[in-house]
Amino acid sequence: MPLLRRLAFALVAALAPLSAAEEPAPVYEQLLKIDVHSHIFEDVPAFHALFRRINVRTINVCVPGGDGRLATMDRVAFELYRKEPELYPVTTTFDLRGRDEPDFVPKTIAWLDAAFARGAVAVKIWKEVGIEIKDRDGKFILPDDPLFDPIYAHLARRGKPLHAHLAEPIDAWLPLDPTSSHYGYYSQNPQWHLHGKPDYPSHAAIIAARDNIMRKHPTLTVVGAHLGSLEHDLAGIAERLARFSNFSIEVAARTRNLTRHPSENVRALFLRFPDRIMYGVDSSWLPHRRDTPPSDQQRRGHATSLELRYRGDFDYYAGRGPMTYYGQKTESLGLPRAVLEKFYHANAERIFALKAAWARQP
Ligand SMILES: [Zn+2]
Repeated sequence: MPLLRRLAFALVAALAPLSAAEEPAPVYEQLLKIDVHSHIFEDVPAFHALFRRINVRTINVCVPGGDGRLATMDRVAFELYRKEPELYPVTTTFDLRGRDEPDFVPKTIAWLDAAFARGAVAVKIWKEVGIEIKDRDGKFILPDDPLFDPIYAHLARRGKPLHAHLAEPIDAWLPLDPTSSHYGYYSQNPQWHLHGKPDYPSHAAIIAARDNIMRKHPTLTVVGAHLGSLEHDLAGIAERLARFSNFSIEVAARTRNLTRHPSENVRALFLRFPDRIMYGVDSSWLPHRRDTPPSDQQRRGHATSLELRYRGDFDYYAGRGPMTYYGQKTESLGLPRAVLEKFYHANAERIFALKAAWARQP
């Protein structure tokens, strides 16, 4: 074969698309990563610098809506967004304390519209709905309570997703188990550990109420936080994603749970629903909840641990072969590049309309 043709063949072979198995993992900094679930309520230059250096953008989520701190969170979140629109788009929430007042719905809708006018991309609803707040008769209010229907209908009309952290990991309803990845949380936060508290709604009842929102409001986009509180049940996640085309999930604070499932099952979920799963971490920086302001050393420490977390997650989702994730031996998922692009940013850009939020001039 003439030399030129041999060279042409070699070139074509080198450029041929690689199969997923041969495809190299993307370089961490080169892939844009959107953390759709963070709570950062202070203007910390070290955080901005970290996000820029490692190519992370966040969605900053205001929550909860029942403890009287919403006005402070709202102020800080929008100040950050105005200063760094690319780094901190805002998901707002609404005040639940006026739920018994006759003007609860119009007031809430006016509050949300004002937040959308300032650029809010979504609305959070938290686990307090289901396992904390009660009606006048002392009964727990479930998330599909008719009280919320006009609000959900309004979000659907406005095209704003409901970011739903409803229920808790199933472990909240089980005896405390030192081998559970949620042991630390429930041993330190007994108020959210519901085992042996029969007055509380069951996990299944709250999940059914969440599903009922999607049934009642098929044009409302619902993002299930924390794997939709079905971290123990990959088949249950798949079943909801198949049943509700308006449902997506994010992995915040549940990558650890994924690493406990067989990696081929987790991988199969991502490959079956590549457009419906988003990245998130659920990191919290909440100086307004502390008695004394954090020190610069603590701020830098938070940035360092956050970077380790982001990179460790990437090793799990994008890497190849055996790995240890926070003490758990597992196999990296080695997701194909096209799936990683959707998981890490394209799905969030579409579902939260982020390009418009980023481009907004203060
Ligand atoms: Zn959170």
